[in-house]
Amino acid sequence: MVSCHVERPLDDDAWSRFERLQQRRPGGFAVIALVRPPDEAHGEDEARWLERARAAAARGPFGLHTHWTSPTHARPTGGDPAARVRRDAEWMRERGLDPRYFCGGGWYTDEAVRAVVAELDLVDCTPRVGEPSPGMLPTTHSLGALARALARPLPRYVHAYFHDYDLLDVRRRYAVPVALAVLGRRAVKI
Ligand SMILES: [Zn+2]
Repeated sequence: MVSCHVERPLDDDAWSRFERLQQRRPGGFAVIALVRPPDEAHGEDEARWLERARAAAARGPFGLHTHWTSPTHARPTGGDPAARVRRDAEWMRERGLDPRYFCGGGWYTDEAVRAVVAELDLVDCTPRVGEPSPGMLPTTHSLGALARALARPLPRYVHAYFHDYDLLDVRRRYAVPVALAVLGRRAVKI
C-alpha cells in the first residue's frame, strides 16, 4: 500500500501534481491522502483547503495527518497531543470529511494519542515497523527504502510513503510513479 503526506495542500503546484498522481493510480495503487488540516494560526485558507480535501476524499482513501506545532513543525512542543488529534478529526467530520487513516506528524505518537486514534476508529499508520494488525497499518518504506527494496525479494508487507512536496523536485517527481509502477507489478494490494 501507498500513502502520501499532504503537507502543502494550499500550494497550487504541489496540490495539482498530487491530484494528477492520485488520478493516474501508478501501479494500480489508490494512494491514501494523509492530509494536514489548515492551520488558522498560520493564516491558512480554510475554504480552499476544504474544497481540495473534499476532492481528494472523493477520489480515494483519506486520512488525517496531524501537525502539532505548525505547518512546518510536525511534532508537539507542548499542550495535549491526544486532544489535538481528537480536535482535528472532529473538525474534519463536522465538515463532512470522513478520515479513515491517521499518521502522526514527524511520526510522533504516545499512549494517549494511540488510544484516541483507536477510539476515533482511525487506522494508525504511524508505526515505522511491523506488519498489519487490527487498526494498524505501519508505514514501512520511504521512497529511498522502496527503491532499495525493489532490487531484492520484497518483504511480505510494504507500505511506502512520500510527501506531496517530493513531487516538486524534478528527480523525485519521476521516481515516485516509476517506483510505484514497479511495486504494483510485483505486489498483491491489500
Ligand atoms: Zn507532516
